[in-house]
Amino acid sequence: MSKNYKRTKPDYDVEEREFKEVRRKPSRPKKPNIQQTKNVITFLNNMTVADIAAELGIGNAEIMRKLMGLGVMTTINQAIDRETIELLGIEMGFTVEDEVVTDLARFEEMDFEDDPKDLVERPPIVTVMGHVDHGKTTLLDTIRNTRVAAGEAGGITQHIGAYQVEVKGEKITFIDTPGHAAFTEMRARGAQVTDVTIIVVAADDGVMPQTREAIDHAKSAKVPIIIAINKIDKPEANVEQIKTKLGEIGIIPEEWGGDVPFVQISALKGKGIDELLEVVLLVSQMEELKANPNRDGMGTVIEAKLDKGRGVVATVIISNGKLKVGDHIVCGTTYGKIRTMSDHTGKRLKEALPSQPVEITGLMEVPEAGDKFVTAKDEREARQAAEAREATRKEKATKPQKAVTLKGLFQQAAQEEKELNLIIKGDTQGTIEALKGSLEKINIEGFRVNIVRSGVGAITENDIILAQASEAIVIGYNVRPIATVRDIAKSSGVEIRLYSVIYNVIEDIEKAITGMLSPVYEEIITGQAVVREIFKNSKIGTIAGAYVTDGSIKRNSKVRVLRDGIVIYEGKLGSLRRFKDDVREVNQGYECGLNIDGYDDVKVDDIIEGFVDKEVER
Ligand code: GDP
Ligand code: MG
Repeated sequence: MSKNYKRTKPDYDVEEREFKEVRRKPSRPKKPNIQQTKNVITFLNNMTVADIAAELGIGNAEIMRKLMGLGVMTTINQAIDRETIELLGIEMGFTVEDEVVTDLARFEEMDFEDDPKDLVERPPIVTVMGHVDHGKTTLLDTIRNTRVAAGEAGGITQHIGAYQVEVKGEKITFIDTPGHAAFTEMRARGAQVTDVTIIVVAADDGVMPQTREAIDHAKSAKVPIIIAINKIDKPEANVEQIKTKLGEIGIIPEEWGGDVPFVQISALKGKGIDELLEVVLLVSQMEELKANPNRDGMGTVIEAKLDKGRGVVATVIISNGKLKVGDHIVCGTTYGKIRTMSDHTGKRLKEALPSQPVEITGLMEVPEAGDKFVTAKDEREARQAAEAREATRKEKATKPQKAVTLKGLFQQAAQEEKELNLIIKGDTQGTIEALKGSLEKINIEGFRVNIVRSGVGAITENDIILAQASEAIVIGYNVRPIATVRDIAKSSGVEIRLYSVIYNVIEDIEKAITGMLSPVYEEIITGQAVVREIFKNSKIGTIAGAYVTDGSIKRNSKVRVLRDGIVIYEGKLGSLRRFKDDVREVNQGYECGLNIDGYDDVKVDDIIEGFVDKEVER
C-alpha cells in the first residue's frame, strides 16, 4: 500500500484555501512568484499539479483553476497524464518535452531508438515451455545435437544456456533453460527476451496444469505460441484430444480456423523437427524482428556463475548492436571489460550480433539472470554507472515495491494504462466462470478488465510471480494463500483480495474503476494454526487440538477453516484454551484447544485462520 495513493488531508486544505484566496481577490497585483517564467516543461512520470507549478514557477492554485476549466478535478498530489498537461500547455502557453536521460546509470530509460533505415532482420529467440516430462529437454537436446556443428574446442557442444541453429540459411536462437519459471521470473524483472514460444504437450498425457500455466504466461507476455505435440511415436498418443482441450482454452489450431500452428513431433526419434523449425521461421517472419548491428551492443543475461579459473562467466543474448571483445559494459549493478567471448561450441569470437547468445568473461561480479547490459564509453563511465545503480537498488530494497493495488487504480487511471489485469483463483470451476463472465461484462468507458489467468485451487507462489510480471491483482474466491505465499505477495508488492460473495468482487472492481472504491474495512489475518487432533466433547462439540504455525490466534477474532487451501467454513471462535485455561491469545509455536462456534466438522490437517476486520484509511 504505497503512501502515494493516500489522499492527504492537509494538502487538500491548502489547495482550497489558496484557491479561495485567488478568487476572492481577483484584482490583487501579481506577486513575482506567480509570473509564469517558462514556456517549456519537461515531462516526468507521475507528474503532479505541484510539480507542474514548480516547473513553471507559479502557484498550485493557478494550475488547479486552469485544470478545472478543462474539466479536470484533481488534487495537488495526484498524477496528471501527459495529454492533460499538453492541453494545459495550450491553455497557458507552454510546450511539453520529454526528459532526455543521458545518465548511463538509468540506461533503461534512455532513448536507444534506431533510425529505421539502419535496421536489419535479426534471428528469433525461442523459449520452450510445457508440463514436466512432456519432452522439453529432449526437444532442445535433439535440435542442438542434430543441428549444431561441433566447434573447434573439442568436438562437443557445451551448455551455455542458449544456442543458435541454422535452418535453410536462417538462424534461430534457442534459450536452453526450459520452463516457464525462468521465463516469468525474467519478465518480472523487466526482461523480455523471448520472441516465440514453443509449448510442448505430450500426446500420451495431454493438456496438464503446467501446459495451461505456460500458455497463460506466453499470452500475458504477448509472445506468439507454437504448439508442439510430442511423443507421437507412442501408441497411446491422442492428438485429437489435445486439439479439443486446447481449443477449449482458446488455443485454436490453424486447421480449425484458429491462428495457432500445431506441429506433431517426436523429440526422441527426431520426427517433425524440420517442420517445427520451419514453422518457427514462419511465425517470426510475421513478427518483423529487427535490430541495428552497427551500434554499441546491449542485451540481457540468461545465466551467470563464478568459475574458479575464469572468474565471472555470463551467458548473454544480444538484443541490439554489436558487442565486441574489449567493450566496457554496465550490467545490472556490476560492470566490466569483456575479456573473452565464445559461442556454444566453445569457439572464440571477437564480436557478437543481435539475437546471438555468447558466453562472456570479464565482469567484476556475478549478475543475475534477466539483468540487462549496455556498452559504456570507458571503464570510468561503466564503473560509475554500476555504482550508482547498486546504490539505487539498495535504496529500493528498503522501500516497498510499486505494484498495482485496487486503491491505486483510480490514480493510475488518470495516466495511460487503462487495463486492469486480474488473476482469479476460486474453489470451483463454476464460480470462476460466473466471476469471469461478470467481470468481463464490466463496461466502463476506456477501461478493460483483462483476466490473465484463472483456475481452481489455492493461491500459489506461481500466481504471485505472474501477478508481479503482468502487474495484476490476485482475486481469491473462497480460497486462501498459505502464509509463505502471503509473505511473497507482500514483499513483491502484489495485492491479493479475498472474497466469498461474487457481488462484492464485481462491486469493488467497478468502484475501483470509477474511482469510488471505499472499502472501509480491511481484513487483517492474525495467524494460522494447523489441526493435529480432534476430540469430541458431548457439551461443547468438536474440539480441535491445534498448533499455531504463524502469527497468533485471538479469542475474539473471526476464523475460517481451510482444507487444501479452500475455505470450507467461516465463523467465530467458540473457545480458545491452553491446557485447561481459557486464554485470549495463543502465539506461534504453541499448541491450543479450540472450538468453532456452530461448526463441528473440523478434521486433522485443516488450517484454522484467524482474522479481524480493521478499519483502514482511504
Ligand atoms: P521435460 O521434463 O519436459 O524436460 O521432459 P524430458 O525431455 O526430460 O522427457 C521426459 C521423458 O520423456 C524422457 O524419458 C524422454 O526420453 C521421454 N520423451 C521425450 N520425448 C519423447 C518422444 O518424442 N517420444 C517418446 N517415446 N518419449 C519421449
Ligand atoms: Mg527437463
